[in-house]
Amino acid sequence: MNTPMRIGHGYDIHQVIAGRKLVLGGVHIPYERGLEGHSDADCLTHALADAILGALALPDIGHYFPNNDPQWRGVNSQIILAKAVSEAKRLGYCIGNVDISLIAEAPKIGPHVAAMKTMLATTLETPESAIGLKATTNEGQDAIGQGLAIAAHAVVLLIRI
Ligand code: MG
Repeated sequence: MNTPMRIGHGYDIHQVIAGRKLVLGGVHIPYERGLEGHSDADCLTHALADAILGALALPDIGHYFPNNDPQWRGVNSQIILAKAVSEAKRLGYCIGNVDISLIAEAPKIGPHVAAMKTMLATTLETPESAIGLKATTNEGQDAIGQGLAIAAHAVVLLIRI
């Protein structure tokens, strides 16, 4: 664990259901449905946290925040991401840069990207210029394309402090 750089990848998907708030990248996005999950179900932030933990060869976020532990019901996923960042620091790394792809058929994500970057930069303790964040659709294909789920991929580069 003393290489100058470490790379990590994370992926997450959550089902879209009625009666939940939609939170992505730590930002509440007005929409008639939200994501199902034990936490706030922010799949973008979960993918990012798992990318950091993966870069560190640590277990995934389910190890630190079990989805059967009432303590974490409804938890703000920025707390999960902050834990991953603190683990990186503990092991001597900071965030170099991250790149995220969010896959959602609806709602439109573009108007919220700037707010998400501001939120994530605060939690990651990086400048916003270290955060790539794109949204795409699945062109009507599969469950994501039918609006039944939202998914995210993330990669991260950690740099030795
Ligand atoms: Mg998740």
